[in-house]
Amino acid sequence: MSKQKLTFNPLSAWINKDEKKPLIISGPCSAETEEQLVNTGLALKKLNVSAIRAGIWKPRTKPGTFEGNGAAALPWIKSVKEATGLPFATEVATPQHIEEALKYGADILWIGARSTVNPFTVQDMADALKGVDIPVLIKNPINPELALWIGAIERIYNAGIRNIAAIHRGFSTHRKTKYRNEPLWGIAIELKTLFPDLPIIGDPSHITGKRTAIYEASQKALDLNYDGLMIESHLDPDNAWSDAAQQVTPAALEQILAALKTRQTTS
Ligand code: PEP
Ligand code: MN
Repeated sequence: MSKQKLTFNPLSAWINKDEKKPLIISGPCSAETEEQLVNTGLALKKLNVSAIRAGIWKPRTKPGTFEGNGAAALPWIKSVKEATGLPFATEVATPQHIEEALKYGADILWIGARSTVNPFTVQDMADALKGVDIPVLIKNPINPELALWIGAIERIYNAGIRNIAAIHRGFSTHRKTKYRNEPLWGIAIELKTLFPDLPIIGDPSHITGKRTAIYEASQKALDLNYDGLMIESHLDPDNAWSDAAQQVTPAALEQILAALKTRQTTS
């Protein structure tokens, strides 16, 4: 597959987390209002999550759905960071998003599945990240192609970023399947085998597409020794402006986290 020897920093080099526990990043699919973002952040802080996530620019499959508040939401980054003291992660899909997210204090950026799939897009973002010291999380491409996922990781790596993690969010399929996206766990396992020190984060929200399955997909990821989980949460999931079916309340998240068995607790 890849001939390049890549070495990545461990999660503990760039995020404050309990060494023995998986990294937990949580927050709404979309930053809907300042109040929603801050109040969700405050509820999540009580659960000791390591970072808050929220989409500012939303890559929606179909037009006419909520595409994020965009620039209007940027000042809310400061508000949620001040209220919680936690780092803030958001999706970027263009060099302009990167410039704006950095200007407004985003601490962690992620590249979404619909961007990872496009080498031109990834390279444009890699160019914008040259000389920038910020962790970048790279979701798998929507199609099940490991080489494309690795190619995106290499492009960001070649921009000088060493604080990288892969996010496994499953793969689009036209078939009727149990989950919204097919996990195809073997692809992520192969990535882990090829790059043993690359942290990998499971995204049970986008894999399953339904809140009743978040626990089982999270446990599966931990059983495969993933380093963390990104789980969407919302104060009123049924009325979320995007991905309503898969978001969990902070109270439900607390129960999920308490029920998950990590290797440390089982061995
Ligand atoms: C998201 O994290 O809300 C998102 C749009 O993710 P994905 O790129 O996995 O679809
Ligand atoms: Mn989402």
